[in-house]
Amino acid sequence: MTALLEVEDLRVAYGKIEAVKGISFTVEEGRVVTLIGTNGAGKTTTLRTLSGLLQPLGGAIRFEGKPLAGVPAHKIVALGLAHSPEGRHIFPRLTIAENLQLGAFLRKDADGIAADTQKAYDLFPILGERRSQAAGTLSGGEQQMLAMGRALMSRPKLLMLDEPSMGLSPIMMQKIMQTIAELKAQGTTILLVEQNAQAALSLADQGHVMEIGKIVLSGTGSELLHDESVRKAYLGED
Ligand code: ATP
Repeated sequence: MTALLEVEDLRVAYGKIEAVKGISFTVEEGRVVTLIGTNGAGKTTTLRTLSGLLQPLGGAIRFEGKPLAGVPAHKIVALGLAHSPEGRHIFPRLTIAENLQLGAFLRKDADGIAADTQKAYDLFPILGERRSQAAGTLSGGEQQMLAMGRALMSRPKLLMLDEPSMGLSPIMMQKIMQTIAELKAQGTTILLVEQNAQAALSLADQGHVMEIGKIVLSGTGSELLHDESVRKAYLGED
């Protein structure tokens, strides 16, 4: 079976600086795959390239077997790849409901959109309670929920989450991770970038450790969680 997403020897540069130096991995349908690694390892660059926001220097990206090279970002969304970016990028002056609607901008099925909006409110009740308020009044964690809800509004085949736990309190982080687990249980395919290796690996079917633009170690979530070098470098153990 072909994987939903195949990344092969991907290289991405900012000018002369190569931020991603030939990485390969796949994401199978229904799986959660995580990229972990320290600041500057190239995780965000990878997601931005998969979304069509950056052009690769080399290598191949295939989604459902079709090459993504040169496909513009809005067409990539239409193909079924949604990206919840680092730093959230919600629209603070628009209401929560309006922010969610923006996630469905390519869809025309009003009934489906209404059903998915309700699903987002079921997943994150606080968004439903405050649907008519400006999104800028939400806390950081709630804005993260809105960004995830918005990404889901395109009914993606692959949901890419960039550091959903960044800057959140431990309780909020737990809530976000629980939601990712819930989405996984519903069969959503997820590519998760996280600095919180413990949380990400606990959830993930597959994990890849990135260091300065390369994948240095791969395994199942639990293999990496128990790997001594990962524990030392990323889980704060001596
Ligand atoms: P973080 O968790 O800090 O976002 P990351 O693993 O996602 O880390 P990237 O943001 O992909 O890493 O950065 C990879 C490398 O590319 C870093 O060395 C970074 O400084 C560099 N980089 C990122 N964005 C740019 C840019 N717009 N211009 C130049 N260099 C960049």
